Amino acid sequence: MFWTAIHKHPETYKKTPNLLDYSQTCAAFSWDTIRDELQGLPDGRGLNIAHEAIDRHAESRLRDHVALRWLGCDGAKRDFTYGELKALSNRFANILKGLGIGKGDTVFVLADRIPELYIAALGTLKNAGVFCPLFSAFGPEPVYQRLKRGDAKVLMTTGHQYRQKVSRIRDTLPKLKYVLLVDTQDHLENGLLSMPRLMAESSSLFSIPPTDPEDIAVLHFTSGTTGMPKGALHVHNAVLIHYMTGKYVMDFHPDDIFWCTADPGWVTGTSYGIIAPWVHGITNIVDEADFDAKRWCHILESQKVSVWYTAPTAIRRFMRLDFEPARSYDLHDLRVIHSVGEPLNPEGVVWGRKAMGLPIHDNWWQTETGGIMIANFPAMEIRPGSMGRPLPGIEAAIVRRTDKDTVEVVDEPDTQGDLALRPGWPSMFRGYLHDEARYRKCFVGGWYLTGDLAKRDADGYFWFVGRADDIIKTSGHMVGPFEVESTLMEHPAVAEAGVIGKPDPLIGEIVKAFVALKTGINPSEELRLEIIGFARKKLGAAVAPKEIDFQPNLPKNKAGKIMRRLLKARELGLPEGDLSTLEKTE
Ligand code: AMP
Repeated sequence: MFWTAIHKHPETYKKTPNLLDYSQTCAAFSWDTIRDELQGLPDGRGLNIAHEAIDRHAESRLRDHVALRWLGCDGAKRDFTYGELKALSNRFANILKGLGIGKGDTVFVLADRIPELYIAALGTLKNAGVFCPLFSAFGPEPVYQRLKRGDAKVLMTTGHQYRQKVSRIRDTLPKLKYVLLVDTQDHLENGLLSMPRLMAESSSLFSIPPTDPEDIAVLHFTSGTTGMPKGALHVHNAVLIHYMTGKYVMDFHPDDIFWCTADPGWVTGTSYGIIAPWVHGITNIVDEADFDAKRWCHILESQKVSVWYTAPTAIRRFMRLDFEPARSYDLHDLRVIHSVGEPLNPEGVVWGRKAMGLPIHDNWWQTETGGIMIANFPAMEIRPGSMGRPLPGIEAAIVRRTDKDTVEVVDEPDTQGDLALRPGWPSMFRGYLHDEARYRKCFVGGWYLTGDLAKRDADGYFWFVGRADDIIKTSGHMVGPFEVESTLMEHPAVAEAGVIGKPDPLIGEIVKAFVALKTGINPSEELRLEIIGFARKKLGAAVAPKEIDFQPNLPKNKAGKIMRRLLKARELGLPEGDLSTLEKTE
């Protein structure tokens, strides 16, 4: 570890953090206390995410507080108060009820980040249905796979998306009875209904039916390393984690303005782009447009964003531009920046401090966990390159398989193993849709195995090593691609790096790196040798890449993760597999 810890003392922090003493908070923690901070449905009728997120605030002094500030691609701005969102989501819930869509029925949404998406999510939850967002950049095949596997009965989408991706396959989806079109004024044939018309005709009053905390609320598809996408099922009780992490990790305070840049097609965009800020009664910014450095800085400044949740790819894109937002924009409202989704290289943390005026707090979780599990909390020392420490109430460990059904906990610090969580936290996924066997395989010896490899240091900070299937074995040494990538990124010419294991007859695999250079820097043999030498010096010859290829851009999926799988397939001349999630920047 080449980086020193970043201390952020509470007195230099703009507000007193909700979590000041990590050990004390963990020791005193109980889920019952968190549950007591929520309201529950009236008359003991259970726990419903939409009630906690919207209705209870709409019935309080927050009624006229802006819940959603929507920024359109074309410069439009629309505000929705808690009171308005309550009424609109009631209307949507009444539409579903009127169509005979009831408890447990899945409502799919295929749309860009438009206000209707958020209204549909809340209305579905109110109706005790299951909300399933689909990433709007998916092509027809992944859309079909998910609608089919998810037994879709209702889909809310736009006319364009419908024509492009659904109309031709509609006959193969006999269960899909209704398609609600957000941009059509009249009902059409074949169950194609006008959402504006139905909204206008529906009542704005709705009584949420009894909702058991264990009722399924959200379905999120996540890609497996092999096979079809897996549908992770989440329950209403997950709101305890959304609330708790909003409090302790995001550090929400009243009047915060929050912006999560993730799309709801991915779990971060639902848990933190919809639920967590609203459970805290704050203003949630939604930007319809995709990444644009200047636009994003302008949003941070003009919307006075105080808590920002983004991803390493965005941070790297900023870094690549060699541009320091804090010099050109007034970011004094910004109090804390968080990052998730892939490893945040230490460089990124340090860049944040220099260029944004704040270090970046990495946290870790995955679709299956439903919410943040490990974090660099605002008041704690950040260890750049580390994912942080487990949330209060979360038991995380490094384990090693001892045989098919058992594992042992690795107690020695800084030792690599499988990252595991003790099952039972409220937002743990309750199954993979139609795949009980695959679900059961995730649990071994009393632990949930995350599929990630990590280390834990002597102070309880967790360090990401790689996905279990990305790890490289070279001359008998385990090498984590993240570690190599982080080092390469320290080289001043390197913007991005992706590292794979390339089969080698002599030493098993050699470490091979693909590197994208910063704007204005040209590849050359001299530079290649220089970077190899730089990495060797930092990592030692056994770990440093033996080969480096320059590429103008590295392949990334839509969520911004570098697709090592694709780099590897291309390197080896193997089939590239499903490319529907590939970001078209290459
Ligand atoms: P997803 O289910 O698509 O959200 O992906 C979850 C996976 O992303 C995790 O299992 C990790 O492999 C990776 N991931 C998420 N957050 C981090 C992080 N902070 N550091 C490293 N890897 C991460």
